[in-house]
Amino acid sequence: MASQRTAVVTGASSGIGAATATELAAQGFHVVLGARRTERIEELAREIGGTAHRLDVTDPESVERFCAAFGPVDVLVNNAGGAHGSAPVAQAVEDDWRWMWETNVLGTMRVTKALLPRLVESGDGHVVTVTSVAALEAYSNGSGYTSAKHAESALHRTLRFEHNGEPVRFTEVLPGMVETEFSLVRFAGDSERAAKVYEGMTPLQAKDIAEVIGFAVTRPPHVNMDTIVVKARDQLTATQAYRHS
Ligand code: NAP
Repeated sequence: MASQRTAVVTGASSGIGAATATELAAQGFHVVLGARRTERIEELAREIGGTAHRLDVTDPESVERFCAAFGPVDVLVNNAGGAHGSAPVAQAVEDDWRWMWETNVLGTMRVTKALLPRLVESGDGHVVTVTSVAALEAYSNGSGYTSAKHAESALHRTLRFEHNGEPVRFTEVLPGMVETEFSLVRFAGDSERAAKVYEGMTPLQAKDIAEVIGFAVTRPPHVNMDTIVVKARDQLTATQAYRHS
């Protein structure tokens, strides 16, 4: 019997990461969950038969400790990330920019760099990076996030060039509006403002993205799904959605 494959999911304590961990466990993977809120990942790991380890992708030592805590890896899902604030460039808040670049861009670089040798060694490695439609578009009051997601996307797509010919696949998933803790984090815990983002339209749920990731990583080894944009039917662009009420 083939040994169980291992999938590492960053930012597995909520939203898309938690749903992806659940989906990949259901697909038969042993899932290693990483995030800062350890109680949450420990509880989910118990539920799905996975392993939880604290991870702060903005801290090189934490990434090193996390990656030393397990052995072979077949799939890495770079999901940890998010947005802070919605200031125009003219009023840019440097700490918010730093948070977004550290988490989405440098965090993805750090974890990917640490695990790439093991992913290649597995003979059929796969890196999935969750960027955003904000990696495709620019819009008012979103520059810290759109610039970070554009950079994360460029980093991810570069890997496809640098490892072409090696046994490792690269899939970028670009979600539109997904109802998670994303907007709560962006608006510093203001739940009323966060709820308004999805008012009158039907957003995606975390499970919708998790299922797409589950599909991409279970294709045969010669199939590389490069770029997958997933939006709610109601959503047209990063900033335009049909509001039914
Ligand atoms: P979420 O519910 O807020 O989840 C974000 C996850 O990232 C949490 O598990 C959080 O865990 C983790 N995280 C944040 N900072 C971290 C750090 N320094 N180290 C390790 N983990 C960290 O939001 P989500 O919507 O599921 O977001 C997941 C990904 O999808 C993000 O990259 C986001 O940019 C992207 N995305 C979301 C949407 C959307 O509309 N929701 C759309 C497009 C793309 P801890 O706080 O426990 O560390």
